[in-house]
Amino acid sequence: MTEISWLDGLKTVIGPEKITVDAAAIAQHSYDVWPVAAKWKGQGKQPYKPEVVVRPTSAKEVSDVLKWASASRVAVTPWGLGSGVTGAAIPSRGGISLDMAGMKQVIALDETNLMVKVQGGKLGLELENELNERGYTLNHSPQSLDRSSVAGWVATRAIGQFSSRYGGIEDLAVAFTAVLPTGEIIETKFAPRAAVGPDLRHVFMGSEGTMGVITDVTLKIFPLAEHRIFEALRFDSVEAGATVMRQFMRVGLRPFLVRFYDVDEAKHAMQDKSFDSCVMFLGFEGVKGVAEAEYNAVMDICAAHGGQKIGPAAVEAWMCRRFDFSTVENLLSEPGGLAETIEISHFWDGILDTYYQLKKALAPYADEVLGHFSHVYPQGTSLYVILLGRVESDAVAEANILKIWETAMNICLETGAAISHHHGVGMARAPYIRADLASSALVLDKVKTAIDPAGVMNPGKLGLNRVGS
Ligand SMILES: Cc1cc2nc3c(=O)[nH]c(=O)nc-3n(C[C@H](O)[C@H](O)[C@H](O)COP(=O)(O)OP(=O)(O)OC[C@H]3O[C@@H](n4cnc5c(N)ncnc54)[C@H](O)[C@@H]3O)c2cc1C
Repeated sequence: MTEISWLDGLKTVIGPEKITVDAAAIAQHSYDVWPVAAKWKGQGKQPYKPEVVVRPTSAKEVSDVLKWASASRVAVTPWGLGSGVTGAAIPSRGGISLDMAGMKQVIALDETNLMVKVQGGKLGLELENELNERGYTLNHSPQSLDRSSVAGWVATRAIGQFSSRYGGIEDLAVAFTAVLPTGEIIETKFAPRAAVGPDLRHVFMGSEGTMGVITDVTLKIFPLAEHRIFEALRFDSVEAGATVMRQFMRVGLRPFLVRFYDVDEAKHAMQDKSFDSCVMFLGFEGVKGVAEAEYNAVMDICAAHGGQKIGPAAVEAWMCRRFDFSTVENLLSEPGGLAETIEISHFWDGILDTYYQLKKALAPYADEVLGHFSHVYPQGTSLYVILLGRVESDAVAEANILKIWETAMNICLETGAAISHHHGVGMARAPYIRADLASSALVLDKVKTAIDPAGVMNPGKLGLNRVGS
């Protein structure tokens, strides 16, 4: 094993019991859930790895490590719970993987003002379960709730399955504590709303560990809903479903659950290979009379566009299995198994063109190209494309996945879609972020240079500078 020249220096700022160079820990922090990383693993490749894993338990320890790392020009990549699907937490320049999983205490529950303050490494589902016992919910429910951390959500600008009603993490995280790369500990101040200069939370939201380390987060909480109604509806075309979603969003109706599957993905969503139309899953909640009125108003819009009710059973079954990712994971664990998920967004007048172009252009790279729309806004919608296939080897699968990214990102850029709706940039989208941000990339560069002058925080990500630059 090669000697790490700076290890003794690191041991002067954090206890040696919090540092590991153990091969299993290094391997664990060398791959997140990006399918390309799964294919590296399948081929025995470990192209990027940290030299050490550090497990802090306080903001002070994070501060000591970052201050030392900046002075010593050692790269630091925060690691939440490693559920990212773009390679963002993979330390592409070695150095330290800063594993935040040990910071998982609930600090304060404020039942009057409906907030909970929690350390950043807390597992989402654990927090949700603890809140449910007290009669509350986060209303942030990503498919990875059972494998992602609270600070990871902020760092990736995550979104949950109930976003059409409650928004993404940018709407739900009201404040946080962060440690700057130079070691200062800062707290973003919070109020129900404030007009005291720019909203500084957004320097860290979606920063993917490039601007500092988030050590605690204050999240909104909500009383558990009094009443829920579910319904599934058949639609003859993607156009009809898209029109319905646009219509109910523009008049202010807000089902908490909206999922519209194209005919290819509907077979999976309905768990019925013979299902032969598009399907929309809807959920309504709140005070009983209001939920019922919202349900009736949305059903009227659906009926006007040919939607046929098929009852709540399929949606209820989906609610029970909504964290299940086994189709993708099982396929990726097979030699030659290929799977990828790409989420983008566009305005209503552009999304269907992007959808059809993606379906056509990606078809040669997978056996199945599935599509669904699951985060809707008055202005537009997300589109989630799932690719599933089998090829002769993991090497071919890796090459195909990279080709899929290139094809999909170029179509997004050409059609004016955002290249990511919620999974973030990581390694998957690094070659395309500059084109997406266009002239505004200058602000990102300047903020990064000011906050991280040594360039040690997750170097190489978001198209930003490298360690020591
Ligand atoms: C099955 C599955 C389903 C998913 N579903 C969704 C979904 O519905 N919605 C969604 O938005 N995403 C989803 N994701 C993606 C992923 O779960 C999210 O991006 C999640 O927010 C990552 O959290 P994490 O704690 O695992 O972070 P990691 O993967 O460990 O890290 C992600 C990035 O955040 C940075 N980071 C982590 N912790 C900190 C910290 N404390 N301070 C600063 N930076 C930090 C890392 O450096 C890295 O750049 C899914 C992933 C999987 C595998």
